[in-house]
Amino acid sequence: MADKPVRVRFAPSPTGKLHVGGARTAIYNWAFARANGGTFILRIDDTDPTRSTDENTQIILRAMRWLGLDWDEGPEVGGDFGPYAQTERLDLYKQAAQRLWDEGKAYPCFCTPEKLAADRAAAQERKDPFQGYQRTCRDMDPAEAQRRIDAGEPYVLRIKVPLDRSDVIVHDAVHGDVTFNARELDDFIIFRSDGTPTYNFATVVDDAMMGITHIIRGDDHLSNTPRQVMVYEALGAPTPTFAHISMILGPDGKKLSKRHGATSVEEYREQGYDADAFVNYLALLGWALDGETTIVPRDVLASRFSLDHVSKNPATFDFKKLDWIQGQYLQAMSDSEFAQRLLLPQLHQAGLVKDDPEAAYMVSSHWFDLLASILKPRTTLAPEVVEKSRFLFAGEGLEFDEKSVEKNLAKDYAATALAAACEALEQIGEDEWTSAAIDAALEVLPERLEINKRKFYGAVRVAECGNQVSPPLGESLELLGRNMTLARLERAMPLCSQGA
Ligand code: GLU
Repeated sequence: MADKPVRVRFAPSPTGKLHVGGARTAIYNWAFARANGGTFILRIDDTDPTRSTDENTQIILRAMRWLGLDWDEGPEVGGDFGPYAQTERLDLYKQAAQRLWDEGKAYPCFCTPEKLAADRAAAQERKDPFQGYQRTCRDMDPAEAQRRIDAGEPYVLRIKVPLDRSDVIVHDAVHGDVTFNARELDDFIIFRSDGTPTYNFATVVDDAMMGITHIIRGDDHLSNTPRQVMVYEALGAPTPTFAHISMILGPDGKKLSKRHGATSVEEYREQGYDADAFVNYLALLGWALDGETTIVPRDVLASRFSLDHVSKNPATFDFKKLDWIQGQYLQAMSDSEFAQRLLLPQLHQAGLVKDDPEAAYMVSSHWFDLLASILKPRTTLAPEVVEKSRFLFAGEGLEFDEKSVEKNLAKDYAATALAAACEALEQIGEDEWTSAAIDAALEVLPERLEINKRKFYGAVRVAECGNQVSPPLGESLELLGRNMTLARLERAMPLCSQGA
């Protein structure tokens, strides 16, 4: 197995959105493929027709793209082993089942649900440790089976687990050897009476035909594995290496759920998390680079990921750690990266920047980089930039925060402060309008006017930004521009007299 090129797959069922647990499974598969020069396959396990929807498939694909988990084969990209949705592979499952039937490795079973229930009750009664299917139809004469099929009797197809099969030992890359007693694996159903394959059958047919070498998935599937091993053996296909990864728990030790917070990838995207930070955080839920490194950029993950460092213990989702990592990623961005990846899309979404974000950046990159430089240290989640930038886009219609006006403008010194600021700033020409020049012009005024520094700047800040909490003043005024800065000082004057 080791010398075979690695082929792994992520096989979500589109019965809901992509959850953080699924996303982590996808990340591990993707990183394992990348770290081993292998192939990462995306397959849509949509055989549950009542719960699978196209809309969910689209949501999953969008989440995968946002996470940056590019797949080499699968929906939209195609590949040599398609189709990549199970509903389009029904004929392949039928052919595989027919082959097992022809080879005597599967057989039809006509037992009704009532008969099965009665058998189970009887097994319980006689305290038989084996309470599964009693293999009633296993040795039926093929001619009789055919006669009953021809007569239209409903039947399922069951796999023939060899009677002399010894324990099934799964060599799990995370859990080590896990032993299952083969006698407890009854001859389970591979095809239902309605002509649809069961999960344990369809998934193995796919994994075998797609040449999957490693199956990395949640450990809720560990108990399915011995049955799947039986299918590999019946098909005569090599059994892949399994790696079952642990559950994700909420901070209270219970399975992560809505009660703890957002659980779908989409919600984290909407809340403004950076995809790289989010992938980094999820990767660390059960895997460690070296036990101490917390910031593992995508390229490091893609070159250094290994199953040896995956823990079998449940991982606890730590919202604070996610935010911390998010903060690290934002602070590590250059101003221009922050502007293009985060600021502009947010401003565009909020309607403050009407033009296409990329075009807007092209025209005013210096302006947006400057804004990015003052917002970046004050941002954890992307949407926060909107409120902090709003004053720059309000033009003449800036709204004043009443409390801020009361505390900073409705004072006897405020008119003097604004008038002096106006006079000083007027001296700066359009071409010299920089934060440094602005800061220099304002700096000398408090002392000259004998107004407390904090009070002076408070008055100017509220006049310009409408609010006493705003980014650094010099840069803010540079961004506002000379004309708007002067116009706002004028406009705020009448608000000053109230307190005089
Ligand atoms: N469709 C299955 C799931 O979403 C895939 C399980 C597997 O990886 O075999 O749980």
